Amino acid sequence: LFIRHAQNEKIETMSHVAASLAHEVRNPLTAVKGFLRLIQEDPGNIAKTDQYIRISMDEIQRTEAILTEYLALSKPLKERTELIDVCEQLHVVREVMLPFANMNNVELELQAYEKPVTIMANPDEFKQVLVNFIKNAIEACAETAKGKVSLSLFIEKNNALLVIKDNGIGMDEGQIRRLGTIYFSTKTSGTGLGLTYSYHVIHTFGGSVSVSSKPKVGTKFTITFPYHQPQ
Ligand code: ADP
Ligand code: MG
Repeated sequence: LFIRHAQNEKIETMSHVAASLAHEVRNPLTAVKGFLRLIQEDPGNIAKTDQYIRISMDEIQRTEAILTEYLALSKPLKERTELIDVCEQLHVVREVMLPFANMNNVELELQAYEKPVTIMANPDEFKQVLVNFIKNAIEACAETAKGKVSLSLFIEKNNALLVIKDNGIGMDEGQIRRLGTIYFSTKTSGTGLGLTYSYHVIHTFGGSVSVSSKPKVGTKFTITFPYHQPQ
């Protein structure tokens, strides 16, 4: 009975996603079509043409982002889980995210743990989750004078704790409550799918997320996973 209940919930979510996706993709398509028509009507106007192309490119990029995150969300979670070292994964993801941090003038600091912090999860999905949290943290700091995102790891009792802290724009209580809800985004070109996917993956592997945040001060996400001692 419990399994059936869980499955029904999932199907309901997915059909909701499909309906909203069609809607979200149609809007930018309509906009791009309109701008192409304007260019066609007045091809000699270089300034306007430039502007219309720029807007259209932005719309197309946004559509691409929506589709990418939608695919990640609809992809069935891989059943294969393995013992992964969170510390090692953090190093890899930090390297991947460094150019994005530099571009936004944000420092991306990693406090290494002296021994491997091992959990059971799927390595690809776990990396994607790290990217989502770190990307959000960097984006939150984009307007901060001395933006800083710090990543740290602990082992506490039988849990591996991963902390992602930033000194960015922060969130009010209403925003905190909506975290992880599908399509919740406060960004002009956000998709609101990153955390929905991440929370889903974390829960699948027996983990949980807690958050503390304050507007204009910053945000601290703590991701907790059952710690698996290597054999
Ligand atoms: P997106 O990044 O596309 O907006 P996400 O699901 O990744 O979607 O995040 C949803 C929302 O949660 C963001 O738009 C933002 O309002 C809020 N959020 C997430 N992480 C942070 C953070 N570190 N600081 C402030 N707000 C955040
Ligand atoms: Mg995001």
